[in-house]
Amino acid sequence: MLKLRGKVETRNTTTLHPSLAHVTRNANLPAALRKKTALLLKGADVRKLTEDFVVSIRSSKPFSALLLCGTDEELDLVKHIADAVLDVYLLPSDYGYLDEGDIVRLNPSGQSISAVFRKNAPNNSILLTERCNHLCLMCSQPPKSADDSWLMDDAFELIRMIPQGTENIGFTGGEPTTYGDRFIELVNTAKVSLPGTSLDVLTNGRSFKNEAYAEKLGRVKHPDLQLGIPLYSDDPVRHDYIVQSQGAFDETIHGILNLKRHGVRVEVRVVVHQQSLPRLVQTCEFIARNLLFVDHVALMGLEITGFTRANLDSLWADPYTYRDTLSEAIEVLRAYGMHCSVYNHQLCLVNRDVEDVYRKSISDWKNEYLPQCGSCARKSECGGFFSTQVMYRHSENISPFL
Ligand code: SF4
Repeated sequence: MLKLRGKVETRNTTTLHPSLAHVTRNANLPAALRKKTALLLKGADVRKLTEDFVVSIRSSKPFSALLLCGTDEELDLVKHIADAVLDVYLLPSDYGYLDEGDIVRLNPSGQSISAVFRKNAPNNSILLTERCNHLCLMCSQPPKSADDSWLMDDAFELIRMIPQGTENIGFTGGEPTTYGDRFIELVNTAKVSLPGTSLDVLTNGRSFKNEAYAEKLGRVKHPDLQLGIPLYSDDPVRHDYIVQSQGAFDETIHGILNLKRHGVRVEVRVVVHQQSLPRLVQTCEFIARNLLFVDHVALMGLEITGFTRANLDSLWADPYTYRDTLSEAIEVLRAYGMHCSVYNHQLCLVNRDVEDVYRKSISDWKNEYLPQCGSCARKSECGGFFSTQVMYRHSENISPFL
């Protein structure tokens, strides 16, 4: 698993405030382009750091920060030189993936760094808030009530820094619509700043029960926006239990109807676990009969993080044991002509009849394989595991294709 954020050693920081910075490896970057840019030296470049080099980068307009990334030995070798520079961050080799074009959030007072945009990642998710009106049994980002609206301020700035040509970005939470109209403004900013970038938003959809709000989002006319909205059962009581919020089912369904009425693309997401599994086929029937007009349905495997770890015994279901139910559910969606996919599953645990809708969907930074996958002839087609599945629980029925 890639380490995207954490505490690091800092030296000579000149400000208390967190800030975003582009990463460059070009020490000769023209002075005019150094604003909001951090110079990254790693590996051999760290070992070659000399006092002359330090003098040269100090003598012209400074970078926002100097990021030195290497092993403990490499960093120890250059610490005395780094002491002569302002705003230095010493990064362990866990951050060796950082490269030209990435964007980091530097937090001098918290002595931490976060990689908030990786140029070569296929998807970059931007966390907008940790606040939420659900308390889902399997929430991967357990809600907090503290005001974290600085995340939204950062998101506006980050959107303007992300390069055009980026294929996809995502907004996630918490519940992004907690911000009301500010969320709509952010979608509009994404449309204006990144017109060629597809935008995925994860939301519980309840705010859109208010038709005027759905209409506002529709009026943005983002060219490639899709809202991913979870629906865990056709039975309102079961859905409300899973999200731990009474009335959620009705509001979510109203939200989906309003969004579609105003031309916003919707993906319905069903996470498959012990609590949703008993009605998975009926849930797909419900979606097909009542929400035939949604754009996509995703049947998703369980990520073992956040609340899922605490509730694992009442959530875990081995995909091998429910593979026939998964096939049946997909068959229902297919029969109605719905566009559907299976996400977050291992290829050897699904029946062959769902392979045409099987997707490699786990984000690269938290994607791993088991040692036995090394001998699998179809590893390149398989989405593998969440790192947390490898750590905490996975099926005992993994069986490499020979
Ligand atoms: S053995 Fe590993 S790589 Fe092969 S299909 Fe199963 S999980 Fe995927």
